[in-house]
Amino acid sequence: MANMSMEKQKMPELRPEIRSRNFEEVALGYSREQAVEEAHRCLQCKNSPCVSGCPVQINIPAFIRKIQEEDFEGAYQIINASSALPAVCGRVCPQENQCEGKCVRGIKGEPVAIGRLERFVADWHMAHAAGKPERPAPNGKKVAVVGSGPAGLTCAGELARKGYQVTIFEALHVAGGVLVYGIPEFRLPKAIVAREIEGLKDLGVQVETNMVIGRILSVDELFEQGYDGVFIGSGAGLPRFMGIPGENLKGVLSANEFLTRVNLMKAYQPDSETPVQRGRRVAVVGGGNVAMDAARCARRLGADEVYIVYRRSMDEIPARAEEIHHAIEEGIIFKTLTNPVEILGDEHQNVTGLRCVEMELGAPDESGRRRPVMKQGSEHMLETDVVIMAIGTSPNPLIRSTTPGLETNSRGCIITEEDTGLTSRAGVYAGGDAVTGAATVILAMGAGKQAAKAMDEKLSK
Ligand code: FAD
Ligand code: SF4
Ligand code: SF4
Repeated sequence: MANMSMEKQKMPELRPEIRSRNFEEVALGYSREQAVEEAHRCLQCKNSPCVSGCPVQINIPAFIRKIQEEDFEGAYQIINASSALPAVCGRVCPQENQCEGKCVRGIKGEPVAIGRLERFVADWHMAHAAGKPERPAPNGKKVAVVGSGPAGLTCAGELARKGYQVTIFEALHVAGGVLVYGIPEFRLPKAIVAREIEGLKDLGVQVETNMVIGRILSVDELFEQGYDGVFIGSGAGLPRFMGIPGENLKGVLSANEFLTRVNLMKAYQPDSETPVQRGRRVAVVGGGNVAMDAARCARRLGADEVYIVYRRSMDEIPARAEEIHHAIEEGIIFKTLTNPVEILGDEHQNVTGLRCVEMELGAPDESGRRRPVMKQGSEHMLETDVVIMAIGTSPNPLIRSTTPGLETNSRGCIITEEDTGLTSRAGVYAGGDAVTGAATVILAMGAGKQAAKAMDEKLSK
């Protein structure tokens, strides 16, 4: 019998006053009883609108039916047929705009907690059923994957399962892309990403870290070394700045640098040797997931006052609803409809504050969102010791500048065929943020999967 409760099962969470001073995972996950109870809220709709909201088309009613029957491994197998990283997506997908945004239970109440159920199933599988997969027989073909974020990992996994000898080349010293250097431990424990990468290695995938493609080896040299195909999943890790006066002062940094020091280089651990900019008052400029992560990390590093400075209103803010809710609970102060125009410093070049103006929303711009317009006479000061810029990123130009014939658009993103991920260079495919600009984990995974299918069709002829 369906459970007709209007509300999702509540997610057990660490209390804000405790978690805002440590890096432990905030959301603790459903118990078995909660998962089964929540699964019974699903009406098993025949047309399953939720599936159309999932970029990789997981058979959502089918996996939830298995949870109703308490066959959690069966549920895992259904999810795994479409998604290689369910423990990650169950935690970080913007479900409210995707699967849950289409769930019929959301019309008169809260949608079914699809993401939380996916996380439950993936965690259950890791705890109970994960064994070493059987290595597929080699098919004699070699593929190089550039970048080990969700796009590269998914492409590598799909090809390895078909018998390709796959090597991932990763510029950083740890594999995982944004999953390890960007998204903080308290949202996505790094042990989970490490387990997923171990799973790929068990399939035979080789991971070569500290390998910057375009510097140590070029894409052309990969072909010379005998690779039959190359997938580029190098992401969009180049931070943007505002171009306002004062951005070169001490205490101004990009969210990418700040998060890399905190997450990948573990600056938050008491015995860490990684230096990191700490401040009593920290202003984070931007309103996306990156801004929320930077603000919540700054708070955990000891800041008393942390501001989100965002030029539009709360209605337009792009971060996931859950991250905004958690940030507010942790005491982050939202300065919306506010735009910095100058960063001020003292005689030692240290940041002392942000000169800001108030904004109001005018007519929609090319993105469809109402354009923020400066309010005359609204200039004011925000005192701060640290400014973190989280206003977007674009692909690093290294690969495009060292790969002749690789076409990119005006934003520096690699141009690909829509259905295959094939670039303007024969045998070179691309996907994820390197193609779309900064997007989401599940879209990057979808692109990696699509490119793997197209490469296989081409190379197995
Ligand atoms: P990436 O994850 O960026 O991986 C690219 C990899 O390529 C990196 O490891 C990089 O070091 C490597 N690389 C780059 N150049 C080279 C080179 N020349 N040679 C070798 N290796 C190279 N999405 C969500 O869905 N939900 C969220 O909650 C969310 N939160 C986010 C929080 C932060 C702080 C950030 C930065 C992003 C967030 N995103 C979120 C977006 C999401 O993480 C990205 O869209 C996704 O990781 C893109 O995957 P990718 O594989 O294309 O690239
Ligand atoms: Fe929803 Fe993401 Fe899971 Fe798809 S992968 S069902 S969008 S949580
Ligand atoms: Fe279940 Fe909602 Fe999907 Fe219907 S739309 S099958 S209720 S998850």
